[in-house]
Amino acid sequence: MVVHATKLPTILVVDDEIINIRLIDNALKNYYRVLFATTGEEALNIARGDVQPDLILLDVLMPNMDGYEVCTELKKDPLTQCIPVIFITSLKNETDETRGFEVGAVDFIRKPIRKTIVRVRVKLHIELKNEMEFHARRSLIDGLTEIANRRRVMEHLSLELRRAVRNRLYLSVVMIDIDCFKLFNDNYGHISGDECLKIVAENVHFCMQRSNDLVGRYGGEEFVCILPDTDFAGAEGMCQLLLDSIRKLEVPHNYSKVSDILTISIGCVCTIPSKTTTLQNLLKAADDALYESKHSGRNCYTCCRLEET
Ligand code: GH3
Ligand code: MG
Ligand code: MG
Repeated sequence: MVVHATKLPTILVVDDEIINIRLIDNALKNYYRVLFATTGEEALNIARGDVQPDLILLDVLMPNMDGYEVCTELKKDPLTQCIPVIFITSLKNETDETRGFEVGAVDFIRKPIRKTIVRVRVKLHIELKNEMEFHARRSLIDGLTEIANRRRVMEHLSLELRRAVRNRLYLSVVMIDIDCFKLFNDNYGHISGDECLKIVAENVHFCMQRSNDLVGRYGGEEFVCILPDTDFAGAEGMCQLLLDSIRKLEVPHNYSKVSDILTISIGCVCTIPSKTTTLQNLLKAADDALYESKHSGRNCYTCCRLEET
């Protein structure tokens, strides 16, 4: 079996004594990519750099900046706070151990360093971290369509709203609702309905063109697209693209009131948001526009401007 070095988890070992680094490296080098630092400052630079470690083994007693200080800094910074830290220590008293956990360590390894102990502890914490990341990712994905769920939509919208306010950029929000979907379910069955939702999600996702564009499932048969840095003309273009992409699928819907194929209606809001703009304002405006599309015959889009002061 070929093991690709890039796929190996990265462990950062921080100790001012080279002999300890050598010992730990020997224990881990066949299973992990091992990085080293001999001072707290160096450790922080590496942790904040391009190749983020998956776990840090941190000596407690070091000159200048000790392990507690390094760990405190790591936990303060959103960029590094999720990296688990295991302290390596010759200290034996309860107060030192308690302090380690208080500053955010997940475990302790005692000196003298024994290879097998280092190996099993590191393995355990890497597994725990992978599992936590897996659950964190899954908690933001819609189970049926496997695109972003409502929670992720709200998080992303909140982030992009703040960015647009800060940089005085356009932000467009698109709300999509499948036309006469109840009739689709009633006549073709719920399983076909679910399949249909998956196809629509996949296609809408495919229409997103920029890395910061995001589509998520907002509710039953409703989807929301967040289009940062997109002006009115750009938003209208996207709405047209979305309408066409669903029509082109030609999913039969003989019970629809508007067509013999599956169609969607769209409401869109475009704005350069101000500090007083809220997520609710944006979503309400998009929803009102969607309501207008539904009332002017469905299978169309309505784009509105939200004027902010
Ligand atoms: P309109 O054109 O006005 O939007 O009509 P509609 O029938 O699409 O809207 P309505 O809100 O009356 O019905 C939405 C339907 O979406 C009701 C429900 O059966 C269906 N639905 C919601 N979630 C799911 C789901 O997860 N799976 C399936 N198969 N259907 C769903
Ligand atoms: Mg609906
Ligand atoms: Mg509907």
